[in-house]
Amino acid sequence: MKPARMSPAHSTPLLAELVCSNSLRSDDPATPAGMLKAELRRLGSLIVECAEATRVPAGDALAVDRHAFARLVTTRIALEPNVRLERRALDDFPDGEVIVAGGPLVGAGLAARIRELAGDRLYFYDAIAPIVDASTIDWAHAFRGSRYGHRHRADGAPDGEAAADGDYVNCPLTEEEYRRFVDEVRRGRKVLPHAFEEPRWFEGCLPIEVMAERGDDVLAFGPLRPVGLDDPRDGSRPYAVVQLRAENRYLTSYNMVGFQTRLAHPEQLRIFRIIPALRNAELLRFGSIHRNSYIRSPELLDGELRLRARPEVRFAGQITGVEGYIESTAIGLLAGRFVADRLDGRAALPPPAATAIGGLYYHLTRRRQPDEPFSPTNVNFGLLPPLEGRAKKRDRRALHAERARAALGTWL
Ligand SMILES: Cc1cc2nc3c(=O)[nH]c(=O)nc-3n(C[C@H](O)[C@H](O)[C@H](O)COP(=O)(O)OP(=O)(O)OC[C@H]3O[C@@H](n4cnc5c(N)ncnc54)[C@H](O)[C@@H]3O)c2cc1C
Repeated sequence: MKPARMSPAHSTPLLAELVCSNSLRSDDPATPAGMLKAELRRLGSLIVECAEATRVPAGDALAVDRHAFARLVTTRIALEPNVRLERRALDDFPDGEVIVAGGPLVGAGLAARIRELAGDRLYFYDAIAPIVDASTIDWAHAFRGSRYGHRHRADGAPDGEAAADGDYVNCPLTEEEYRRFVDEVRRGRKVLPHAFEEPRWFEGCLPIEVMAERGDDVLAFGPLRPVGLDDPRDGSRPYAVVQLRAENRYLTSYNMVGFQTRLAHPEQLRIFRIIPALRNAELLRFGSIHRNSYIRSPELLDGELRLRARPEVRFAGQITGVEGYIESTAIGLLAGRFVADRLDGRAALPPPAATAIGGLYYHLTRRRQPDEPFSPTNVNFGLLPPLEGRAKKRDRRALHAERARAALGTWL
């Protein structure tokens, strides 16, 4: 729709406009972002090809000259023999088979049409809680168990055997630790909202810093309430408890329950490490709150990213529930391949779960229970099946990369 109608974040008429950072993140294949880009390269991604042609020095990262990059993508698309580029705002789906890739700030008319199909499963804000790498939890300071529910062994290794009644990991705090935590949350540096983002909080989903500002014990009566979570080691009731909920079925990553936040990323690490069980924690995903249109894909889309209710409408990009330039690129590429498969009379073959692109794909398409949370994700190791055996962090990353490389080769 650019340049006739601009979203609040876009300012040029070019396609593939990078609205914020000019970095497509790490290029090291032993990082999740690097792994995904390595896969996109092998899959012939136009976006990654154009990024490489316009890259600027940025250490291990693939950063681009944003104008040169967007110009090159625009030119390449315009020159595609099978593409006719029409620049106009759509307030309805066009006839025929379509791919909707309206992005996080999809235009209001189209959003209203999506809403008619998706109902309350189209969202306009993201309130994302951080995700912790299970292998970095200090189990000497954590115990498994649900509120008032069964409790499990205190040392529960994150290997899956305690899953049945230990999907929650509880991280207790003494009163002193709790007070220090609240104090740091109040003082911590926050990310400022964009001009087009009005802070409209839902009472059931307040950021931790808003709760901390409302009173000393608001968090202790809210997401950190210890009721029903006595410590099995000595039967005592902690002053406060941070609960972690399994984020994936492999139990390799855990969501910090109720921890949506606008704290800046380095502040999140610094402050959450006050919690004894998280003193060495690594975050696979940081908490955030921002304007973001996305649909509840696992319920709405089939395995080819088509609306179950209207199979001629596919979704791609960030609106499906991924976050970031390269993640959106990956889901765009998959949607394109699924269409190509159909036109060529081939059955669509989903990417392997062990690849970064497969991890994103299954995040969007794995069926959930109706009350199971679904939130947008960036690419991270928590989306991938666990590796067999134990290995050091650096080795694990290399093993993930190697396993993904082999799996992608077989798939191709
Ligand atoms: C403020 C902001 C900052 C961000 N910062 C980063 C960052 O630093 N790093 C990062 O990796 N990601 C960042 N993102 C996310 C990133 O922009 C997205 O992941 C990515 O652009 C999504 O790609 P997409 O193709 O799905 O959507 P978009 O890039 O948003 O493209 C959607 C296109 O659809 C068009 N469109 C929308 N509605 C209509 C309509 N009704 N009719 C016709 N056309 C329409 C829009 O004009 C736009 O060109 C940021 C997003 C925002 C909003």
